[in-house]
Amino acid sequence: MFAWKDVDFSPQKVDTRKLEKLANKIVSVSKRPWTIMEVCAGQTRTMLEHKLDQIIPDNINLVHGPGCAICATPLSKIDKAIEIAQQDDVVFCCSGELLRLKGSRVDLLEIKAGGADVRVVPSPLDCLALARKEPDKKFVFFTIGFETKAELNALSVWQARRLGLKNFFLLPSIPLVVSVCNKVLKSGQSPVQGVLCPGEVCAVTGYSNYERVARKYDVPIVVSGYEPVDLMEGLLACVKMLESGRTDIKNIFRRDVTRDGNKQAKALINDVFEMVDSDWRGIGIVENGAYSLKEEYAAYDAERAFPLTVESRPDAEFCIANQILLGFKKPTDCPAFGKSCRPSDPQGSTMVSNQGTCFTYYKFLHDQEH
Ligand code: SF4
Repeated sequence: MFAWKDVDFSPQKVDTRKLEKLANKIVSVSKRPWTIMEVCAGQTRTMLEHKLDQIIPDNINLVHGPGCAICATPLSKIDKAIEIAQQDDVVFCCSGELLRLKGSRVDLLEIKAGGADVRVVPSPLDCLALARKEPDKKFVFFTIGFETKAELNALSVWQARRLGLKNFFLLPSIPLVVSVCNKVLKSGQSPVQGVLCPGEVCAVTGYSNYERVARKYDVPIVVSGYEPVDLMEGLLACVKMLESGRTDIKNIFRRDVTRDGNKQAKALINDVFEMVDSDWRGIGIVENGAYSLKEEYAAYDAERAFPLTVESRPDAEFCIANQILLGFKKPTDCPAFGKSCRPSDPQGSTMVSNQGTCFTYYKFLHDQEH
C-alpha cells in the first residue's frame, strides 16, 4: 500500500489535496482487482511523472495503451519519407520533432546535412503557402498525428485543389484511436477491463463511436483529460463502473468534449480522407486503422506522386512492444529495457519517440535510479 510521505508531488503543478481526496475515494470504492488502460501517451506520461500509479491502491493495475502516433507509424513510411526527401526538386517539410526520427538507416536531419532540402515548417498550410511562392519545386508535407491533426491536413489538401496547385503533396500518417481500441479489446484474452480514452481526440471525433466499443466488448470507457486530477477522476469513474458492473461511457472531460464532437471539422475530414486498414507499428494490421486521401484527392498524395520502393529493417525480434501495447506487459518486463534498448538506440516502436511507453518509463523510472 502507498505511503503519502514517499510521494514527491510538485505543489506548484498539482492540487495535492484534491489528488489525495480522489485517491482515498478510489481506495474506498475498489473492492476487487481491476486492469485499466489509459490509451494516450500523454496520459501515460502524466501518470508516471506525477507518480499516480503509486497513490492508487495495489489492486488497480494500470496498463499503457498504443496512443503514440509516432510509435504507430510503420518504419516503412519513415523510410519512404526519407527517400522522397532525397528526390530532385523536392522541398520536404515537417515539424521539428520528426527530424530525428530514425529510419532503417538514417534520419531526416542527416540527409539535410547531406544537402537535401528539408525544412522545419509548423503546419501544412505554411507548406502550401511556400508551394505557391515557388511553383518550380515540389513541396511535400510529412505529418504524423491522431485525429486531432486530421482537420488541418484535410484543409491544406482541400485548399490545394481549390487553388489548382500542382506542386503540393501530403505524406500523412494519421492512425485512428478508436480503431486501435477495438483491436486491443478484441485481441484474445485481453486483460483490459476498463479504458481511459483521450479527451483531445474526442474533442474532434466526439465519443459516440466509443459507445459502440464499450457495448461490443462489455468494457466501461471514460473520456478523460491529461492533468493529474483529470486522470484520477477518470480512474475513480472507471472503478465505480467496474464495481457496479456497468458497461457504459462517461465523459468527464466536458470542458472540451461533446458526444458528437466538432461537426464542421468532421465534415471536412470526411470530405478529404477515408479510413483504410493500416499497419500499426508494434501491433500489426488494424482494421480501419488510419486515414488515407480519397481518390478525388489522389493528385496530392505523396505516396502516389513518388512511387518508390524502400526496404525497411524489422524491429528487434526480442522486442515485446506488441504485448505492451495490448496491455499484457509493461516496459520493465522487457529484458532489453534500459540495456540494449534505450532512447539513444531504440530497438522497438515504443522507444522511438519521447511519447512512447518505453521511452516514458525510461525517463521517469530508469533516470531516477541512475
Ligand atoms: S524496451 Fe525496447 S525492445 Fe523492449 S519492448 Fe520497449 S521498445 Fe521493445
